[in-house]
Amino acid sequence: MSNLFKFLPSVDSVLTRLEEEGALSGVPRTLVRDLVNGFLDVCREEIKSGIITAEDQLSLDALFPRLTCHVRAGARPHFRRVLNATGVVVHTNLGRSLLADSAVKAVTEACGSYSNLEFDLKTGERGSRYSHVEKLVCDITGAEAALVVNNNASAVLITLETLAAGREAVVSRGQLVEIGGSFRIPDVMTKSGAILHEVGATNRTHPYDYEGAINDNTALLMKVHTSNFRIIGFTKEVTGAELVELGTKYNLPVYEDLGSGNLTNFAGLGLMREPTVQEVVSEGVDVVSFSGDKVLGGPQAGVIVGKKKYIDMIKKNPLNRVVRIDKMTLAALEATLRLYLDPEIAMKEVPTLRMIMEKPESLQLRAQSLSRVLDRFLGENVTLGVREGVSRVGGGAFPEQDLKTFLVTVVPQGDLSVPELKERLLSSDPPLVGRIEDDAFCLDPRTLTQIEYHMVAESISQALNLDK
Ligand SMILES: *Cc1c(COP(=O)(O)O)cnc(C)c1O
Repeated sequence: MSNLFKFLPSVDSVLTRLEEEGALSGVPRTLVRDLVNGFLDVCREEIKSGIITAEDQLSLDALFPRLTCHVRAGARPHFRRVLNATGVVVHTNLGRSLLADSAVKAVTEACGSYSNLEFDLKTGERGSRYSHVEKLVCDITGAEAALVVNNNASAVLITLETLAAGREAVVSRGQLVEIGGSFRIPDVMTKSGAILHEVGATNRTHPYDYEGAINDNTALLMKVHTSNFRIIGFTKEVTGAELVELGTKYNLPVYEDLGSGNLTNFAGLGLMREPTVQEVVSEGVDVVSFSGDKVLGGPQAGVIVGKKKYIDMIKKNPLNRVVRIDKMTLAALEATLRLYLDPEIAMKEVPTLRMIMEKPESLQLRAQSLSRVLDRFLGENVTLGVREGVSRVGGGAFPEQDLKTFLVTVVPQGDLSVPELKERLLSSDPPLVGRIEDDAFCLDPRTLTQIEYHMVAESISQALNLDK
């Protein structure tokens, strides 16, 4: 065994061969050298563990296909496109919302050229980066004033810090939620310096609970969307309007963290009704915050809207510089919001809305068409089917509510198990993420575009080793 080591090709001979084949043009030489060394280390391990047992397995010719795969995979950027076949539209782990075409263009232009980011083209003097979207947000939501920040978590933090630091914020026990990624309302409240005053019971909170908690040190009445968590059965939540009534009586601001914050009425989709931002604003809630990249379908951002008096206070908070929105986000957000000026256009152009609204009949046709593409590519190597299933909105919006869809089911022929297929698809190029249901790997066309069907076929084909 030990004498096999001397048959390993030298790093330089490998590098020369790679160069001759032109397989890795554009990849820095130092990176390629490190990757080749890494590959040769793998070979040494395989000699030690008896996987490689003969001299001819170590020739450059024999090793070359695997070697190029290894080096190519290592040279690829780490942050990559993936195919989302999960049917979860706002999938936080897969990047939440896809931007509309006009938003993608706006981002490209904003980062490839100088802009009037903080420059007033009327006066030729310093301008405000917030000017690009404030009026638009107000026009769409009906609010008096608006501010945009890095994300909704920042929006919650800066709002609490501005309005309630060192004093009490009253919140229902049923709304002290954890959103995921360790964002917990009580913890953010502590970090903001506000003192949490919880009221009510987990399942039921009444206006008199809030009223009974109000004292000289109360600064804020707060309501939180419970997001990915739902209390069912014997429940009672205090409405925004009821809180506004209390706020007016005691001269206290009311703040609602809406989480996903939809601007669209999804009535008719069979989803439980969720209040839109416009409705919450019209109830008179003083400050409302929500995410830009959940159901709104824009870039990661936090949008804060409400009464001018409070928004002005938040704008002046030094923390605002800490949670500042960047120019790419602003460009994408403005372009997305412009689509909302005409809700019909928003439904057509904003991918997140389009995916949520897609009808089962259309999904059935698309599932059949995806299945045909897979059949052409993969033939006898898989068993394919199309059947009814469910998709989810995701992002904490409409939790536990199903959207009817049609799934393409894939079961590999031969030795490969369905869980093994699922795992291997993560190493395909592009990687494909789907789910297993009833012993089949399932692809939901809701989160795939027609253009991606061939990529899906290619990914599965790689996972089945059909390319070799
Ligand atoms: C998602 C969510 C947040 C955090 O928003 P990000 O945009 O992810 O920072 C805060 N509050 C609620 C209720 C949420 O659903």
